[in-house]
Amino acid sequence: MTAPAVFQPCMVLLVDDQAMVGEAVRRHLANLPDIDFHFCADPYQALAIALQIKPSVILQDLVMPGISGLELLSHYRANPLVLDVPVIVLSNTEDPAIKSEAFSAGANDYLVKLPDKIELIARIRYHSKAYQTQLQRDEAYRALRESQQQLGDSNIALISLNQKLEEATRSKSEFLANMSHEIRTPMNGVIGMTTLLLDTQLSDEQKDFVETIRSSSDSLLTIINDILDFSKIESGKLDLENAPFDLRICIEESMELLAPRALEKKIDFAYWIEENVPTKVTGDPTRLRQIFINLLSNATKFTSRGEVVLEVRRASPEQMNNGAAYKSPSLGLLFSVRDTGIGIPENKLDRLFKSFSQVDSSTTRNFGGTGLGLAICKRLAELMGGEIWVSSVEGKGSIFHFTAALEVDSTHADLTGLIGISGLKGKRLLILEDNASNLRILSAYANSWGMHVSGASSSEEAMEQLEIGNFDAVMVEYQFNESVPTKTDVTVTESTPARASSYSGRELLRCLRQNTAFASVPVILLSSIRLGSIIEELGPFSISAYIYKPIRRSAVLEALTHVFHKARETGDVASADSSDELNASLPLRILLADDNAINLKVGQAFLTKMGYEIDVVTNGADTLEKLKIHPYDILFLDVQMPGMDGYETARKICRQFKHTRPRIIAMTGNAMQGDREKCLEAGMDDYITKPARPADLKAMLLKWGESPIPAKS
Ligand code: ADP
Repeated sequence: MTAPAVFQPCMVLLVDDQAMVGEAVRRHLANLPDIDFHFCADPYQALAIALQIKPSVILQDLVMPGISGLELLSHYRANPLVLDVPVIVLSNTEDPAIKSEAFSAGANDYLVKLPDKIELIARIRYHSKAYQTQLQRDEAYRALRESQQQLGDSNIALISLNQKLEEATRSKSEFLANMSHEIRTPMNGVIGMTTLLLDTQLSDEQKDFVETIRSSSDSLLTIINDILDFSKIESGKLDLENAPFDLRICIEESMELLAPRALEKKIDFAYWIEENVPTKVTGDPTRLRQIFINLLSNATKFTSRGEVVLEVRRASPEQMNNGAAYKSPSLGLLFSVRDTGIGIPENKLDRLFKSFSQVDSSTTRNFGGTGLGLAICKRLAELMGGEIWVSSVEGKGSIFHFTAALEVDSTHADLTGLIGISGLKGKRLLILEDNASNLRILSAYANSWGMHVSGASSSEEAMEQLEIGNFDAVMVEYQFNESVPTKTDVTVTESTPARASSYSGRELLRCLRQNTAFASVPVILLSSIRLGSIIEELGPFSISAYIYKPIRRSAVLEALTHVFHKARETGDVASADSSDELNASLPLRILLADDNAINLKVGQAFLTKMGYEIDVVTNGADTLEKLKIHPYDILFLDVQMPGMDGYETARKICRQFKHTRPRIIAMTGNAMQGDREKCLEAGMDDYITKPARPADLKAMLLKWGESPIPAKS
């Protein structure tokens, strides 16, 4: 910024012993608003007056009594305050010798008295302006140097503050890692023990109490994880993984986690991936799943009737937050989670993605939660090069959208669409499904495999289709007309009695089988609930295959190919849970190392239930001793143990037992970034976080049980 120019008059000091000259010059300069004239007749006073009035130019007579003009000039030049003031020497003659003497003494100009008025004024103005400009420039330089100095000083202060902050952040995340471990260890005990307790003989009341403990500790764990995640993201400590994964499986796993809650509330639950979205991708599946789970869980929480649908399509470049992350070969995807729930008032939308904020305090009481979920989703989406936003109509529902940049995993072609579809091409399929989203999804799958699809979402439509007949297979929704309607006329429908024409799934099956055209057509039953013992009652309808919701594409394909290949009589019913006797199919020798007695007890009980007899140790040294005596296939190793910690133990095992060592699975309470790498670096094969659940342990046994360390060739 430049300061506005300030008018500064030329301050002229004439030093001459002759009053007459003084008078003549005064007259020349009279009435000029930009010139302020001062006269000094006493040469001995000249310097003092100059110091006082600070002239912008001095007119200096050469010949004066007592002291010469040149001598005075040298006085001016010796004084720092007038050193640079321009001096115009007034001489009686145009004498080159005197002139050169004057210039070498420091004069800036030389005039013969009395000069022409115009010339005098012009020279006064010229020298004054030059001097004043120089003064201003010097002042600006000085101010600049000063602010530079200040800037430098504050920079130093900032750097040191930053260092302190970094130290604080580091100790904060260390503190969090430790706290996380400290909290998870007893949580492991609580969750594990309640899981075991639930398997014992309990009265209904006791069972209810234990289930409450179980669900409370589950929510406590979610909150701890949320807080930990949030701090990790805030301190920039969250690095995304870049691993190949199947997007469809990632979505299906997230859906399945929340399906029981949706089923409880009788909400339809579905997902749809557009045809042009490649599903073999690389990115961070864990963090992506975290966003899905958060959004799906909110959608289910705030919806009491209708449906929750997750949709995936390609994003347009404008929908991506970070242009750079989107550039080829990145794959920008748009995910939308749509619900028919309570919606969000428009004036509350802006605070949704802020941390610790809920839409209002009454919902806080109704629904609970930390208000961190969406803030975490926002940051995760941004880390993935995307954005998150919402559109919502109060009372009708919300759609949460987010984008993320992934990479296409070109090393794995998506073959799921190709396996077994040859037998489906041209086949005529009838789908009786009252939920419009599910009908659309099922039809799209079947169409993509070359089938001819007809659909019916109401009893009337179903009856029409049954009259037409001529189908190769029929899919029937078992809960037809049972789920609470999605449409906006929800207010009237809840207690509306079933009309005569509102058939249930079972009634549809009956009509179908009574119709000769359908007597032997294979039927695939769709169901939101595991049919279990009901399956026997369904015997007369000769169901060929079952598909359980949330609908997985692979399940639909499997059911259809099964039906048309007639491989077995009655499709894969809910695959029986065989976890209890895993030992029979996968015998393993397992060692469990943990210094915490409760953790040992829980782990031991879980593994015993799977049919394994396991050995336990409580420290690193005993682990090594035990390995000398017995060969083990799997070692579950706690990371934080006193004395020799898990990392060191693992390093020693790898060194001492090389090719005869068991697969080492770390168990860690620290869910901090870098822990995984630390475990792998120490030679461990995999890791699970505490509290470990039976499913985690089982997954590890299945993953590693059949792949021992390769013997040295
Ligand atoms: P919390 O972990 O407490 O659920 P979130 O950040 O996930 O926090 O959500 C914040 C708030 O946003 C919720 O308390 C709720 O008021 C509102 N909200 C989130 N999702 C929905 C939704 N699908 N429908 C209605 N309100 C929602």
